[in-house]
Amino acid sequence: MTISENNDLVKMIREELAGRAPVPLGVNKENELIRLVYEICRRDGKSPDLILDSVGIVAPKKERRGDFFRMAKKRLMRGRYPSYGFGREARLLPLKITGDHTGCRTWNFGLDPNIIFVENNVRNFVWTEEFLSFFPRAEVRGISTFRDGTRSISRVDPVTKYNRRVENLFLIRNKDAFVKICPCTKGCNRCGYWILNVGFGCPVDCSYCFLQLYSNAPGLILPANIEEYYDHVKRFDSKTTVRTRIGTGEFTDSLALDKYTGYSSKLIPLFRKTKNLVLELKTKIAEIDNVLKEDPHENIVISWSVNDKEIALEYEKGGATIEERIDAARRAAERGYSLGFHFDPIVYSRCWEDGYKAIVEEIFSIDVVRKNTVWISLGTLRYTPGMKQVAEQRFSDNNLYYDGEFLADIDGKLRYPRDLRIDIYSKMVNWIRSFDISCWIYLCMEPEEVWQRTSLDPSDRIWTG
Ligand code: SF4
Repeated sequence: MTISENNDLVKMIREELAGRAPVPLGVNKENELIRLVYEICRRDGKSPDLILDSVGIVAPKKERRGDFFRMAKKRLMRGRYPSYGFGREARLLPLKITGDHTGCRTWNFGLDPNIIFVENNVRNFVWTEEFLSFFPRAEVRGISTFRDGTRSISRVDPVTKYNRRVENLFLIRNKDAFVKICPCTKGCNRCGYWILNVGFGCPVDCSYCFLQLYSNAPGLILPANIEEYYDHVKRFDSKTTVRTRIGTGEFTDSLALDKYTGYSSKLIPLFRKTKNLVLELKTKIAEIDNVLKEDPHENIVISWSVNDKEIALEYEKGGATIEERIDAARRAAERGYSLGFHFDPIVYSRCWEDGYKAIVEEIFSIDVVRKNTVWISLGTLRYTPGMKQVAEQRFSDNNLYYDGEFLADIDGKLRYPRDLRIDIYSKMVNWIRSFDISCWIYLCMEPEEVWQRTSLDPSDRIWTG
């Protein structure tokens, strides 16, 4: 759906509501009803008049003046959120489909930055020289701090800023928490994951990515002092007493920029020597040449985020196709690497089972892939309030948030109802286990009740190697 088709739809909804309300609605009330009708229209592929007729919102004379909004909202809520009630909340934020923002246009598995900001304190690093040599056309601008660099970029609205993030790169000296525990989310089981912060910002353009809302940086940030991470990793390793997973993919894709940064060529040898730490490099791309050049080790896991093929094509723009990711996983396994797979976010639609069952079969019917897989995570689509609005501004054809209900869960994030999530996880686990896979399967960001009702072994809450 184009922006102008979207705007036409919103206009039609507004006119239909105005024609049926006995008195003009206030802005907030009108916004809530527009949001509800809009989402049902997008979900069912029907026009606003048919939707309003079907829930019994008819001509004004049939309704008493004061009751119109309450009645209309109640009926539309029932239409949009059949599971609504019992204290569960659905956020009805105003629609914000305002302009032609069609994602990040300049990333196609290659970077071509306009400006590379380099902190003066890393300008003479060998890594910096090597990195800059990939981009002879870019302007290189020295800065004393990251903040200095951001101040010199002209201000644009947050969505435009996010869309242009690959135009500016920042090479900095990271001084923050090099190693930290995964923050997870309130009320959910933590899986004992740790994070090595190697960069902030991702060139891949997933329609559901939290960075769209979270990131305020006008470019991608890369640490030039990767070798200063070594001591932090070694110190952390010496303190750990059990096998511990640590990944670099919280704020970025672990391998999307690896052909420029070469981080994997530095981290893999480092983690080959750790006592208890196991490094996970998690990605949505298929270019893994640097990884394949390194010798594998039991402390290194290369993992892929995977999805229904159509969901990936539609909503993971800038990522490799699922076929390419599976082929890359096969190559990594043949090289001797252990593998991980993350079915996250699983997106519900009325025919979700077909796509996800097919992808499970496609991955695990490859012998070498099945044998080398050491963990699999499952997580359904979830988002913080406000995220849907940003995604709506960036991707006008985004249907992610209209199929299925999203209600606030224990941590305030909006998710599918628990019964639906449990059904999804249980089926996924059965499909995976039918391939005689005994590896660790875990749920990402789910509370204990969901784990229990998915029949996952209680001893499996945390990976112990
Ligand atoms: S379950 Fe997911 S979010 Fe929670 S600690 Fe593990 S990886 Fe992090």
